[in-house]
Amino acid sequence: MSLDELYREVILDHYRNPRHRGRLEHATAHAEGQNPLCGDEVRIDLVVDGGRVVEIGVTGQGCSISQASASMMAEAVAGKSVAEIEGLSSRFRAMMDLEEGDAGIDESRPGESLGDLEALQGVRRFPVRIKCAALPWTTLKEALEGDAG
Ligand code: ZN
Repeated sequence: MSLDELYREVILDHYRNPRHRGRLEHATAHAEGQNPLCGDEVRIDLVVDGGRVVEIGVTGQGCSISQASASMMAEAVAGKSVAEIEGLSSRFRAMMDLEEGDAGIDESRPGESLGDLEALQGVRRFPVRIKCAALPWTTLKEALEGDAG
């Protein structure tokens, strides 16, 4: 199996079996994001306690890239501190060539794996799809910022 095929399998697995799917009635923060280019919608509910995302729920609809990315993101950030999530987010953005310069590269953690999220790096070849992959992360950022108040 080629790396491309492996990545495709990982993306399809998250699309078909999304992790942390559902609304959280007791959420402390939430945000909704849309990608009008593709029709993707993502809603993220969070329970943030003591600077840590203790629960995350994701709902939405759209293309396989956006929904798989949301599932991968939820899996990656569940239980993490807000600071850890910022690090993950910037490493993801760096992988997707979304960061300007090398601002997203954390030199103190060379080569740290992004896990399943690495399956999305093939999307870089399709610039229109990068917005699909990034949508859950921009929505998460909005939810976290909304929680600050
Ligand atoms: Zn899309």
